[in-house]
Amino acid sequence: MQHPEHVVVVGAGIVGLSTAWHLQEQGVRVTIVDRTGVSAGSSWGNAGWLTPALTLPLSEPSVFATGAKAMLDPASPLYIPLTTDPSLIKFLAGFARHCTPGKWREAMKVFSEIGSTGLDAFAELAEGSNAVTEPTKPAEPFLAAFASEKDRQGLVHEFEGIREAGGSVDFDLMTGAEIRALEPTLGSGVTAGVKIHDQRFINPPNFMESLADSVRKRGGEIIDGFTVSDVRESSNSVTVIGSSGRSLTADSVVLATGAWLNSLTRKFGVRQVVQAGRGYSFTVKPEVMPTHPIYFPAQRVACTPLGDRFRVAGMMEFRDADAPLDERRIQAIIKAASPMYTGIDWEDRQEEWVGARPCTADGLPLIGATKSPRVHVAGGHGMWGVALGPLTGKMLAAEMTGQGTAPLMRHFSPLR
Ligand SMILES: Cc1cc2nc3c(=O)[nH]c(=O)nc-3n(C[C@H](O)[C@H](O)[C@H](O)COP(=O)(O)OP(=O)(O)OC[C@H]3O[C@@H](n4cnc5c(N)ncnc54)[C@H](O)[C@@H]3O)c2cc1C
Repeated sequence: MQHPEHVVVVGAGIVGLSTAWHLQEQGVRVTIVDRTGVSAGSSWGNAGWLTPALTLPLSEPSVFATGAKAMLDPASPLYIPLTTDPSLIKFLAGFARHCTPGKWREAMKVFSEIGSTGLDAFAELAEGSNAVTEPTKPAEPFLAAFASEKDRQGLVHEFEGIREAGGSVDFDLMTGAEIRALEPTLGSGVTAGVKIHDQRFINPPNFMESLADSVRKRGGEIIDGFTVSDVRESSNSVTVIGSSGRSLTADSVVLATGAWLNSLTRKFGVRQVVQAGRGYSFTVKPEVMPTHPIYFPAQRVACTPLGDRFRVAGMMEFRDADAPLDERRIQAIIKAASPMYTGIDWEDRQEEWVGARPCTADGLPLIGATKSPRVHVAGGHGMWGVALGPLTGKMLAAEMTGQGTAPLMRHFSPLR
């Protein structure tokens, strides 16, 4: 393949827009199409953590420890409905095979190899003219809070696993009083803490807007309301067909459609299921606004200060990406989080949101060419598509434009 002059990117989430941005760095003209618009998918209401220390595989051996009964309970942090959907059954079987200590360590080695290069890729987006102006913020320190020392031991154990896999994580233990002194919004339900150093976070809606602005100012076109229903290649070009009858032809296409990846990629040899792992979030206004992101690992609740409001996120619901928001999951997050805080009116919620994490059974993304050299895939990052989006875009753009294939890419073949 020659250096493409024009690339169509399908999907205006963090992965698609970051890929477009890096293609522009290599002098490529980009057109981005999205069925709705910028950050209409998972890239909007997420927790915005750029946390190498917590970028761990989803396939923890303890995931299924709660037992099948708990997973059918809508209040469980991991919810799997009874299903006859063959694609979900295939995903769950593959995912269960990866929830072993050995497979977790294998995946962890890949995340350790990524290390802080994901953060470096964010720094690059902020360089040069017409750069991304919304900053990433240091989470000095990033806080994890627990109802008991026993709960804390689970996270400490995971950190030991990171170090064994060759990664690094710098953390200190805190007492309940110490962590509450740093964040007075934490209530008496918190009796132990961990502070983690060298982590960052973003305000996801602001960041996405700024990234889209930067892509536009650098000459990119973003077309909203363009649902791609098919991709057809010919000997010297590729055409994306819109369901409204519109079409666009370019030298190459990047499919970055998040949890909706399978429908367009299957015919190009991608067999991995990308399953929606739906999460929920909302914002509240605590009496004392926290200044650090706060994680409750035992409750699986993630909280992020967004400026004038505080985002509370959680849940992993393996079901149809387009199913409507289920209010019971919001209530389950409140039930888990509220004993850990003080001074929050949980009734005064705004921006209730559900979004679909694009999950693969082995926990690794799909990045690179398909069996067509003109059709590329970028997606399947599961819980960590924000942290890894810019790095993904950088590696894929380099490969597509003949600048070389990063060694990391050997783990992410879409054809595996
Ligand atoms: C509650 C929650 C918290 C999270 N917290 C974090 C976090 O702290 N840190 C982190 O790194 N990650 C986090 N994530 C995960 C992260 O949000 C995702 O991994 C990431 O946003 C995926 O980005 P994407 O660009 O691949 O997909 P998306 O953002 O979903 O974008 C896909 C886009 O494709 C479009 N599209 C789909 N089909 C078509 C089609 N046929 N034609 C045209 N357009 C189409 C959609 O409209 C959408 O805009 C969280 C997720 C959730 C749900």
